[in-house]
Amino acid sequence: VSIKEEVKVKSKSPNSRVEWGRINVFVRGRPLSKTELTAGAFDSLEIADKNTTFLHEFCASDDYLRMKRLKTRQYQFDHVFNMFDTQRCVYDTTTAPLVESVLNGQNASCFCYGATGTGKTHTMLGSVDDPGIMVLAFQNLFKSIEEDPDTSVTLTYVEIYNEALKDLLNPNGGDLCLRELPGKGVTMNGVKEVSASSAEEVVNLLHKGNKHRKTESTRCNRTSSRSHALLQIKVVRKDENRTLTGKLSLVDLAGSERTIANEKKSSSRSVEGANINKSLLSLSSCIRALVEGKKHIPFRNSKLTQMLKDSLGGMCQTAMIATVTPSSFSLGETANTLHWAERAKMIKLPGARTKHERIIKSHPLASAMLPSLREDKAE
Ligand code: ADP
Ligand code: MG
Repeated sequence: VSIKEEVKVKSKSPNSRVEWGRINVFVRGRPLSKTELTAGAFDSLEIADKNTTFLHEFCASDDYLRMKRLKTRQYQFDHVFNMFDTQRCVYDTTTAPLVESVLNGQNASCFCYGATGTGKTHTMLGSVDDPGIMVLAFQNLFKSIEEDPDTSVTLTYVEIYNEALKDLLNPNGGDLCLRELPGKGVTMNGVKEVSASSAEEVVNLLHKGNKHRKTESTRCNRTSSRSHALLQIKVVRKDENRTLTGKLSLVDLAGSERTIANEKKSSSRSVEGANINKSLLSLSSCIRALVEGKKHIPFRNSKLTQMLKDSLGGMCQTAMIATVTPSSFSLGETANTLHWAERAKMIKLPGARTKHERIIKSHPLASAMLPSLREDKAE
């Protein structure tokens, strides 16, 4: 099957049921972890349908059985995955359409955004036994090009930590510099660009690279990913007498939790927190400006956005996957993530006047709670 035919067949597959806009926003909730269950957490995330999720807040009570729902917030996205959705399902819905456009010479990007421990790395890289988007994208690519000698696939895998750029495929190589060359866009000076010919070979490379990511224990004693990992896959192929170049950027963002307030301001960890926030904030501003159709997009505000300049703007498609835990103990963090994701899409519910009133009135539980919510607002 030629690439073109393959792409056509794939476009018709039932997995491409999400209608693609320029920025599509997805949510993936993971199952409650053993630690969360042992600590007595319960599930505060309810997936109403493939587009809608509710976040329930419960009344504090000593008696588990008498827990009452206090507040319900509703959020709407292009697709909401439930905890049983497989890696393949997540890939097919969020990234397979991007791989198609990359094969057609366009640039595209997919991000995982969320607090530490919510499943960003699981979704992006996954494990050897249960590979995530990065690996499945390669499988898909190599299947599509079927050893076509006229197509080349190369990759770079870097980390952005404290606004410094490190090559995960060449960890002893020192910091990389970004250069913007006219006509060539932003390039990384001295980065190791590896040519790949099979998905198996790439898996080892990525897992080895990932071991070099900067992780540190935070005060709350969790091993936390404090860096952004960026995999860029470049596909160059000849189509009749044209050369098509497409690039797919896959980003495992640093934990989005707010660190600065909890850390001593003078510590280096607080500087780190500020930088992470700078990158994430800058990413938000760029997405916002793109969604609003602004002329000036502030790509230059951080390394991350500078590097994604040619993969976010213009005709590029972007998938944003917000990862969350359903734990009732992480309600604030989950609400932050969902709110961020919602803003990335700027979906506004018709008739929703305030955040509190974003409630489906036809939902029996939600409507039962309306009076208590109104009281809440009046306070
Ligand atoms: P993050 O990269 O956001 O810090 P991880 O991807 O490391 O989080 O996930 C934290 C833990 O939760 C890991 O042990 C991972 O295997 C598990 N996990 C995450 N998402 C899922 C999921 N959808 N299904 C099952 N386990 C998951
Ligand atoms: Mg991680």
